[in-house]
Amino acid sequence: MKKLDNKPTVLILGCNFAGLTAARYIREECSDHVNIVVMDKKDYINFIPNIPIEVFGNRNPADSLLFSFKKHLDDDNTHFFMAEVLDIDADNKQVIYKPNERAGSCSQTMKYDYLVVALGCRLAYDEIEGFADYGFTFSDTFNGEKVRKFLNYEYKGGPIAIGSDRFIQGQSPKLPNVPSALAACEGPPIELSFSMADWLKEKKLGDASKITMFTPGEVIAEDAGKTILGKLLPMAQKMGYGYVSNTVGVKRIYKEGIEFKNGTSLEAEMKIVFPNWAPHSFMKNKPFTDSEGFVITDWYMHNPDYPEIFAVGDAAAVTVPKLGALGHAEAMVVSKMLARLTNPNKADSKVDPVSPMVVCFGDMGSHKGFYMHTNEWWGGNISVMQMGRLPYIMKISFKNMYHELGGKIPTWGMPLSEDISDHIHL
Ligand SMILES: Cc1cc2nc3c(=O)[nH]c(=O)nc-3n(C[C@H](O)[C@H](O)[C@H](O)COP(=O)(O)OP(=O)(O)OC[C@H]3O[C@@H](n4cnc5c(N)ncnc54)[C@H](O)[C@@H]3O)c2cc1C
Repeated sequence: MKKLDNKPTVLILGCNFAGLTAARYIREECSDHVNIVVMDKKDYINFIPNIPIEVFGNRNPADSLLFSFKKHLDDDNTHFFMAEVLDIDADNKQVIYKPNERAGSCSQTMKYDYLVVALGCRLAYDEIEGFADYGFTFSDTFNGEKVRKFLNYEYKGGPIAIGSDRFIQGQSPKLPNVPSALAACEGPPIELSFSMADWLKEKKLGDASKITMFTPGEVIAEDAGKTILGKLLPMAQKMGYGYVSNTVGVKRIYKEGIEFKNGTSLEAEMKIVFPNWAPHSFMKNKPFTDSEGFVITDWYMHNPDYPEIFAVGDAAAVTVPKLGALGHAEAMVVSKMLARLTNPNKADSKVDPVSPMVVCFGDMGSHKGFYMHTNEWWGGNISVMQMGRLPYIMKISFKNMYHELGGKIPTWGMPLSEDISDHIHL
């Protein structure tokens, strides 16, 4: 594609949580000093965190959680291409892609001055033996709908196993200090265990004692920090949940249960699994990615060898756990970094690095939820957990606000949510 003017082109690959937020804030920070091009293989947001609420409410999540973002990009004068990214040629500052409107399109190349990789990950369900026939999950609307149908029409009230396969974190000497995690994102298994127990009670099919949580790690949701886990795990035990740790990973799923790599197994009618979050295959062995294919950055989300490459969200190596809230914080930092490079009015502005933390609103069923805000796992001293009606209201409000504002949560939005949730009980 030929350039229309002399402005630098910022090419953003991926337009879900991290990519859309980056696109909106880059426009705000860089104003009209850049051309912004966004590429994604689909033209809608998949609002993943609220899938469980829809499923347990017996609604198809695809009916309300796929939002179009194009209007917001048009309003920002940001150009959108619906296309599949095939490769990134960092040495020649170009991306190879294929428009996916119709089958049979030819591959094309697009040059960039700055690249923001927001392509998320490949959720590796296809590497779990038996998953297609006997596994369930909640990470997209297709799988959410499959769970909804099973629960409402086939489930016979048997045991339920909920947990994660082993996450393979990438390594690189060029990465800043990032704690190691054996599971990619264990907020969802915790959230689902709560809301599933509530659903069982409501349907008079049982309670928490039917559910066993499992983790490949020494402890589930390690990133919640010791203080929160010190309260959460005894509470779960008191409620009757089963709990299995150190599974090492999932070996296979079969009709009657699930077998782990440490040689143990669990009997379960329903097996709900979160897989390894693996990079896309074309990201492997790149000069700017780690041993697995995650993009190497510092906490300014900037690659040390290719100064024009940034990454945000699940695709970035420092994003551990794989959490949308981290991607949001990273996108804000990248927009400020790019403003310094492209907007003469902001050339000397100060940019603070990402301060990693878990901020998470989870559903617990019956219009209640939990809220976690902690950076203990990264060595900080914030550690807040609340349960009640407010976190549920915040979770629903966040979705509505995200939809209305097209991913452009005001800069005061996240700190305000944290302040309200940290200090008010309901
Ligand atoms: C059940 C569940 C609940 C969750 N709850 C929470 C929560 O409460 N709070 C929280 O912070 N996080 C939560 N998460 C994690 C959160 O969903 C992810 O961290 C977040 O989606 C990552 O955003 P992202 O934009 O980096 O990647 P993604 O959301 O994966 O987006 C990547 C984008 O890139 C596009 N793409 C990928 N490959 C290509 C290609 N080759 N060509 C073109 N486009 C491509 C995709 O179409 C997609 O739009 C939850 C996850 C799950 C599974």
